[in-house]
Amino acid sequence: MQTEQTTGSELLLRDTIVKVNLSDIAENMRLIREMCGEDVAVMPVIKANGYGHGAVGIAPTLIESGAAYLAVATLTEALELRQAYPDYPLFILGHTPARLSDIVVENRITQTIVSLSQAQALSEAAQKAGTVAKIHLKVDTGFHRLGIYDEEEFWQICQLPGLEVEGIFSHLALVNDEEDELQYRRLTDMIARLEARGLSFRYKHIADSISLVDYPQYRLNMVRPGALIYGLRGFHKGYLPVRQCISFESRISQIHDIRAGEGVGYDYLWRAPKDTRIGTLPFGYSDGYPRNMRDKGYVTIHGVKCPILGVICMDQCMVDLTDVPQAQEGDLAIVYGNGENNTMSIQEACELAGTNKNEIVARILARPPRVYVK
Ligand SMILES: *Cc1c(COP(=O)(O)O)cnc(C)c1O
Repeated sequence: MQTEQTTGSELLLRDTIVKVNLSDIAENMRLIREMCGEDVAVMPVIKANGYGHGAVGIAPTLIESGAAYLAVATLTEALELRQAYPDYPLFILGHTPARLSDIVVENRITQTIVSLSQAQALSEAAQKAGTVAKIHLKVDTGFHRLGIYDEEEFWQICQLPGLEVEGIFSHLALVNDEEDELQYRRLTDMIARLEARGLSFRYKHIADSISLVDYPQYRLNMVRPGALIYGLRGFHKGYLPVRQCISFESRISQIHDIRAGEGVGYDYLWRAPKDTRIGTLPFGYSDGYPRNMRDKGYVTIHGVKCPILGVICMDQCMVDLTDVPQAQEGDLAIVYGNGENNTMSIQEACELAGTNKNEIVARILARPPRVYVK
């Protein structure tokens, strides 16, 4: 059965869309849960609009698949999810400024705590609201992005009224086995020192996508997969047959036959060496397609690779239709597919654009409508 829905309207308002296969997301979640076992809670990371897949759109699938929490990076992302899912546990991985503590409390969002001053602000907000705010302590084990490594400061945070210290966690820099192990030891040492003083933590976590596959011994009792949920594989030692869930599709808006010597696009940066049939596609860099794909990128039309010609515009680009004489206006063009049938996979896209897979999908942020299929 194919169910399609768009954000905002029943009618598909654009020819450029991001298609997300929810069954693949469910299957990836199942594989992760099976691999980690029942004692490990899975907190899928759906920041950056669910790595471009649409956070609100994929959340029900993750909830049905047994997500313990939904994690995002920022308060704005958490609030969008809170509107759609009034009761589900939500987690903010990043820092939220003290001035916004009331909003965190009102919306019952579990907040990462990186310092005593941040915890004090949240404690005051919770007391004012007559409630208890859940927090996870962020231990800086070497990454030096967020968190502290100070037993006394953690201890003081844990004494504050109005806070439930539900978890403690850190994040790996993924440098090499030794450095990663050192980080893990620093986390577990800090946990042991705090537990020796009578504290206890329901959730302890350090593993993201790569480390949950490559380092089974670091899963503790919670893991935080992002990329893996979307079938983007980054692991080296272990293996999990997760599947890419996204395809980025467009349709030909117009076809032009141009003469040898004529130029295409800004600055005529591509000039036809011979008479050429070209197609215009309604997507550009503001749809998250890397502008530096010029001279490297292609789309796939009727199974044929059609190179991008000239500069990629903000909302459009032009491709060479020489090898697909049957192409018509309105025909489908696959921008990113699963790599089969001559389509460009996310892996190939990141290599061509000189970035990583997460950036390729995350930058397809807002504009193209998401279409969900099962
Ligand atoms: C983004 C993020 C994750 C997920 O990372 P992946 O590499 O995509 O699995 C996990 N933990 C934290 C703290 C993050 O910021």
